Amino acid sequence: MQRLLLLMPATTYRATDFLTAAERIGVEVTVGTNGQQALEAVVPGGTFTLDFLDVPRCIETVTRFAKTRPFQAVVASDEETVTLAAQICEALSLPHNPVSAVAAAKDKHRLRETLTANAVLTPSFQIFHINDPPEEVARKVPFPCVLKPTFLSASRGVIRADDPCTLKTAFERLSALLKDPEVRNQGQAAAQKILVESFIPGREVALEGLLQNGDLTVLAIFDKPDPLDGPFFEETIYVTPSRLSATAQREVADCIQRATWALGLKEGPIHAELRINRQGIWVIEVAPRSIGGICSRTLRFGVGLSLEEIILRHAFNLPIASLKRHSLASGVMMIPIPKKGVLDDYTGVAEAKRVHHIEAVTITMRRRQKVIPLPEGRQYLGFIFARAEDPETVESALREAHQKLSFTIAPI
Ligand code: ADP
Ligand code: CA
Repeated sequence: MQRLLLLMPATTYRATDFLTAAERIGVEVTVGTNGQQALEAVVPGGTFTLDFLDVPRCIETVTRFAKTRPFQAVVASDEETVTLAAQICEALSLPHNPVSAVAAAKDKHRLRETLTANAVLTPSFQIFHINDPPEEVARKVPFPCVLKPTFLSASRGVIRADDPCTLKTAFERLSALLKDPEVRNQGQAAAQKILVESFIPGREVALEGLLQNGDLTVLAIFDKPDPLDGPFFEETIYVTPSRLSATAQREVADCIQRATWALGLKEGPIHAELRINRQGIWVIEVAPRSIGGICSRTLRFGVGLSLEEIILRHAFNLPIASLKRHSLASGVMMIPIPKKGVLDDYTGVAEAKRVHHIEAVTITMRRRQKVIPLPEGRQYLGFIFARAEDPETVESALREAHQKLSFTIAPI
């Protein structure tokens, strides 16, 4: 039997979806995780602990394990483990993205440099040190602008500034986040840097794709119908198919294909974000991973394949009958955290589920759990899923279901 090494952070939302996919394609799974306790219950006897930040140790542990029980594929469940997955593939001589390409895509500063050098339209940018005086930064950057860390995800630490005064507040707030011990440990030298970009107005879409030998196949383009104008950039609704014209969708795909060529990415899932305005199509992010949270549950392909099944089939070089998305429109709402505190209680889940076209309402936060909104936080209260004939109906079903939910958050 073929064996998969699934690199899964303890905080993953995706354990079940990847494990179900592995079972469906008939491969044995070993989980490498930084929190064995959390996952041991899900994969009894099938996990081992890896300190994801100590790459040489991880490679040594995995290589030793693989001597007696070889892996035919290594897959990262989440953004946090994609670079490590490429490094382990390299050590085990498995097909993979070049490590340098993954590293360039994951570092937002290098991403901007690479895209700019290859004439892919992307925001202008400057890099600063967290201890630079904000007054000096304000003299050098355009307004409005966006401040962000170079290595975090899920819009964590991403803040818009419209003038020197809001820039100062944003810069100090982001510096404080980057000095948090856990964040600093994760980012190492990158936690000293703040990237400031020109703010690109326009509508935003996300593209989910698969690279095979460098060629991009679009799996889905999602509209993000809520305005994302800041000051924080909380994701809420994703709906596919996109309501962009067929021509615009082709241009979006071309743009991301050029971006992946520029970066040197070759294999596996791609999640990208773009903004569209009169000047053109701007690449905001191209990440060598699949969509986060449990949002992949909006997608079904061919004869009922999940996105995770496609990722695993591709990793094992197994045939994929079809990469065509099922024709119904579908969408997800990531339920934002309205304020900092402790989640006391929530109500309305049953009512939300009863809304026509709603498929599922999953609250992922537990009662009594601490909840932190953006820009410091990184989680959502939960996810609402809808499926219908057209994207408009999906969008309104998601909004209606969200209104049925009520969360009580007590101050800490
Ligand atoms: P992350 O990897 O944390 O998701 P991104 O760079 O993708 O960080 O930024 C998160 C969101 O912030 C984007 O989806 C977009 O809505 C907004 N954003 C980021 N950079 C810009 C920019 N230069 N102009 C306009 N909006 C931006
Ligand atoms: Ca992003």
